Amino acid sequence: MQSIPTGVTVVAVTKTFPFNIVEEAYHSGFRHIGENRVEEAREKIEHAQKNTLKGIVWHMIGHVQSRKIRDAAALFDWVDSVDSSRIARKLDEEAGRLGKKLHVLLEVNLSGEATKYGFDLAGWENNPEKLQHFHVSIHESMSMKHLIVEGLMTMPPYMTDPEDNRPIFQSLKRLSKTIRAQIPGFGAELSMGTSQDYWVAVEEGATQIRLGEAIFGRRPKKISNCPNS
Ligand SMILES: *Cc1c(COP(=O)(O)O)cnc(C)c1O
Repeated sequence: MQSIPTGVTVVAVTKTFPFNIVEEAYHSGFRHIGENRVEEAREKIEHAQKNTLKGIVWHMIGHVQSRKIRDAAALFDWVDSVDSSRIARKLDEEAGRLGKKLHVLLEVNLSGEATKYGFDLAGWENNPEKLQHFHVSIHESMSMKHLIVEGLMTMPPYMTDPEDNRPIFQSLKRLSKTIRAQIPGFGAELSMGTSQDYWVAVEEGATQIRLGEAIFGRRPKKISNCPNS
């Protein structure tokens, strides 16, 4: 694995791996753990509590289905994959019910792939309407009492050459700067980069990277990187 600057948070992605991998990650010092399915996460979170693994920050990194929103709000500390205003509203409502605050990232789709979740910001630099549209959702989510809007997340396409994703990382960074120039208080976190390309993402300003296979080796069950919870 390439070295990672200390300011960058590594979210160790344990999806599809058994619980002992969570323990292993914990004992190696990882405190941010990412899962993309609510049911699988629940088991691991309960195990972690039983085994008194204290201080884990659980990240939901997959699309949250409507019927899973309540559970997601209860189980996770962060939802990195808020991909619609509707989900933001429901998470806020559930978090309020639970008396907790949820850290959230707004997931954006910069590649325009139709199969991908996220606010559609493909080509935003030449499309002021898309940006304005997104601003509405940003203002809305920032006004929610039980959400802390920490910044942006993106999931770039799978590429055999990680360099091919550099423009996407640059675009997310520029998007973040543009938003923050216009909306003071919008979070500066940038979650971008996975095992295939994290060093490129870090060079382009990632503050969080989500790593599964680079830490734990091949995933036992090969599933799509496009999460569907
Ligand atoms: C699985 C997954 C990752 C991690 O993928 P690796 O290739 O194992 O690093 C990162 N982000 C999301 C949204 C994922 O679903």
